[in-house]
Amino acid sequence: MYDIILIGGGILGLSTAMQLAERFPEKKLLLLEKEAGPARHQSGHNSGVIHAGVYYAPGSLKARFCREGNRATREFCDRHAIPYDICGKLLVATRETEVQRMEALWERCAANGLERDWLSADALKEREPNVTGLAGLYIPSSGIVDFARVAEAMAAEFERNGGQIRYGQEVTGLAERTGEVLVTTRKGEFSSRYLVSCSGLMADRVVRMLGRAPGFIICPFRGEYYRLADRHANIVRHLIYPIPDPSMPFLGVHLTRMIDGSVTVGPNAVLALKREGYRKGDISLPDMARLFSDPGVLRVLGRYFRPGLHELKNSFYRRGYLKEVRKYCPSLTLDDLEPWPAGVRAQAVSRDGRLIDDFLFVNTRRTVNVCNAPSPAATSAIPIGRHILNKVGEMLQGG
Ligand SMILES: Cc1cc2nc3c(=O)[nH]c(=O)nc-3n(C[C@H](O)[C@H](O)[C@H](O)COP(=O)(O)OP(=O)(O)OC[C@H]3O[C@@H](n4cnc5c(N)ncnc54)[C@H](O)[C@@H]3O)c2cc1C
Repeated sequence: MYDIILIGGGILGLSTAMQLAERFPEKKLLLLEKEAGPARHQSGHNSGVIHAGVYYAPGSLKARFCREGNRATREFCDRHAIPYDICGKLLVATRETEVQRMEALWERCAANGLERDWLSADALKEREPNVTGLAGLYIPSSGIVDFARVAEAMAAEFERNGGQIRYGQEVTGLAERTGEVLVTTRKGEFSSRYLVSCSGLMADRVVRMLGRAPGFIICPFRGEYYRLADRHANIVRHLIYPIPDPSMPFLGVHLTRMIDGSVTVGPNAVLALKREGYRKGDISLPDMARLFSDPGVLRVLGRYFRPGLHELKNSFYRRGYLKEVRKYCPSLTLDDLEPWPAGVRAQAVSRDGRLIDDFLFVNTRRTVNVCNAPSPAATSAIPIGRHILNKVGEMLQGG
């Protein structure tokens, strides 16, 4: 019997596993991952931004964990010789209404304890000659890293401290009983005193396996990117973000310097018709049937019908996508957009039709389940892992 089994070899499962092994060296720990290696889903398909914590409601878990995670990620990378670059982020207002919204973000940065600088149009041009805007909000503590590398280092650290990882093990059934949780995979059965699930796009299914009605459904939103042609590798010095539209659920297409020296634009947000549907043509009829029969999802689709249609159009129409980027980087042309792999976000939607904003955990007597961990969860992986560790610690003390 194991003391703790973890489901999910993404950055959250691995961060939690690593910290559990460090805190409880005498415990028998096992991590089960259905893929052949770590970080094959969200943790390996993202923008690679170490967020600072600009947008999040003060006092929310996102605001707290992001700020702590920004520091913890850098420290982890320093210890493990993983390259990162605190290149700073610029939010660019291109219209008068956005300047007003930027004022609200300015205040929010203060509430979240972030250093920031207000740039006039001229100061913006000086910092970023290829970017045009009416004003900019500069956040020096944002940076970039390869989160897949971070996750791999966490896996190695976990194994070094005695933890076991089994890849190619898809969990298909769970039974929580007195004194144990029985975990069934396609290849066998494992018994554990406690269970932690960090299963990303499958989070609701895992809760269902425990015999609980989750009260939410994971809605997969594909984020499609382009990579800029090599000649544009130095087109920006910072991360260039739009001023988010509060009526839209995601941040909007941004220009991201990647740690490998390239620059990507994206991601947009289109409803994926398959949980792990990375390509436009990926469709799963059972996934679609569940999505389109869910009252919460239908409400969300109704509410965001127009912006959703706009995103969908631009997903197929590169010129439309380019127009979004050209708002603040007007020199780019269609030839500059090269293909780049998409990512799929796991966004929890409540039955009453809300996109759940904050990180969400659902606990039972013997299990802790991460149920909503969208961006900035990669940045926040270390504090989220610590949060779960504390919860499991309480459970272990309770027996
Ligand atoms: C397009 C995009 C851009 C993003 N940009 C950023 C960013 O710049 N900065 C940032 O901080 N965050 C960003 N995020 C968010 C961040 O990537 C995720 O929040 C984070 O990676 C979530 O980690 P995770 O471990 O919960 O999920 P995942 O990485 O998806 O891992 C879950 C794992 O569970 C496994 N699993 C699921 N079900 C089972 C099962 N039944 N049995 C066994 N294994 C199972 C899966 O195979 C998977 O490996 C972005 C996300 C996307 C999609």
